[in-house]
Amino acid sequence: MTGQSQDTDRNLRALRGQPDAEALAAGVLAGERALLARAITLVESQNRAHRAKAQDVLDRVRHAAGNAIRIGITGVPGVGKSTTIDQFGTNLTEAGHRIAVLAVDPTSQRSGGSILGDKTRMSKLSIDRSAFIRPSPTSGTLGGVARRTRETMTLVEAAGFDIVLVETVGVGQSETTVADMVDIFVVLLLPGGGDDLQGIKKGVIELADLVAINKADGDNKRRAERTAGDYRSALTLLTPVEADWRPPVLTMSGLENEGLTQLWHEIDKHQTLMQKTGARARRRARQALSWMDDLLGDEMWQRLVHSEKAKPLYENLRDQVRRGDIAPGRAVDRLLEKLGLSD
Ligand code: GDP
Repeated sequence: MTGQSQDTDRNLRALRGQPDAEALAAGVLAGERALLARAITLVESQNRAHRAKAQDVLDRVRHAAGNAIRIGITGVPGVGKSTTIDQFGTNLTEAGHRIAVLAVDPTSQRSGGSILGDKTRMSKLSIDRSAFIRPSPTSGTLGGVARRTRETMTLVEAAGFDIVLVETVGVGQSETTVADMVDIFVVLLLPGGGDDLQGIKKGVIELADLVAINKADGDNKRRAERTAGDYRSALTLLTPVEADWRPPVLTMSGLENEGLTQLWHEIDKHQTLMQKTGARARRRARQALSWMDDLLGDEMWQRLVHSEKAKPLYENLRDQVRRGDIAPGRAVDRLLEKLGLSD
């Protein structure tokens, strides 16, 4: 049995006897954790009927979403993401915030390794009533995982969580995807070494609104300061994500709870500035549009390959491309022409 069908079966079982969309939406809006969790299971389902119901729930709650600060956090495995989120999140709940932790990790099922957002990796937050942790959806393409995480974000915001942390690991395109769904994107690094030595993919630093060198404790303190200095210089050469904001480079220790007040201070400063200049609204509007385009691409693709009219045509053209009888570009032209979509 494939991972995907296993997941769907599990969802189907979990969703049997599910309350209707109205009751689910009311539960989400009232901040009821059990109903919130069920609503998330619904948006994670790949079953078509569930998708329609999920959309109904989302429509009913979206007026109450959008008020949270959305923070993305990335870094290579072992950099200290879960340790940091556990401590940082606890500091914030102690200060009266309500934190949701989500994750985007399309590889978690394949690797069978540490699953991001796994509750056992965040021992303090997982028993904190002001926190809600949801591991990454474990099946599907990056696009599919991202869609479900975005929809889950709407649900947790509607349930009253005012800070959403989205964790991801430096694999594939997942950082770009997460940077495209948050208000501020934080890159965690280790002391010592440049990007190549750290296993950081080219381009990730360019996405950063904030860089933090973690594990700046014990013998590593001075090395972390040097690394921070190197990144400060390197960042002056890059065009910042937002024109008015030069990404700060901090040092911190998630383990020893050092530098996390400063981290929050910088995030808060960024948010205040982005709100004042209108950059946050522009960023969210840009993200919503690119999300719509992604969905449109996905949906059109799904319809195309499942449509009775288009599927045989598509398969036929694929055969021709495989045999080298026709160029791929020409095949696309033909298909669109037959579907009445050519100009
Ligand atoms: P993740 O894979 O990025 O989520 O990293 P983890 O949070 O699981 O941390 C990986 C290892 O680094 C664990 O053994 C942690 O105890 C350790 N670690 C995490 N943060 C710190 C830190 O600030 N300082 C030190 N010295 N160790 C840390």
